[in-house]
Amino acid sequence: MPPMVIPDKCDGCQGEGEPLCEQVCPGDLMMLDRSVNKAVCRNVGDCWDCMSCTKACPRQAIQTRLQYQVAFFPGKLIPLVGTHSVTWTLIDCRGNVERFVMKTLAGDEEEE
Ligand code: SF4
Ligand code: SF4
Repeated sequence: MPPMVIPDKCDGCQGEGEPLCEQVCPGDLMMLDRSVNKAVCRNVGDCWDCMSCTKACPRQAIQTRLQYQVAFFPGKLIPLVGTHSVTWTLIDCRGNVERFVMKTLAGDEEEE
């Protein structure tokens, strides 16, 4: 499912020359709607759910809605990126919440 920008949380990456979600999208899909200073996905049909934009957003302003086969609305997956790990919050269709901590490559390298 394409990224969903939460308008109240997105500040347009003030101070950045280019919004962080736009910088990391491999498909060049994220852009700033300058009329409202909020990010948008310019072509949701081309998004392949890599979640780079979701993880890069410093304000947790982008959520990934889960496909109905997985969780139905309002299931969603929210990453919180730390220095050495990403904490994933999974909210299923009944509102149950589970969290998973995944080490990143930086976390693995530190252990070696
Ligand atoms: S999920 Fe990936 S492909 Fe889709 S808009 Fe975000 S960064 Fe781009
Ligand atoms: S990275 Fe987050 S805060 Fe920055 S423009 Fe994108 S959605 Fe908005």
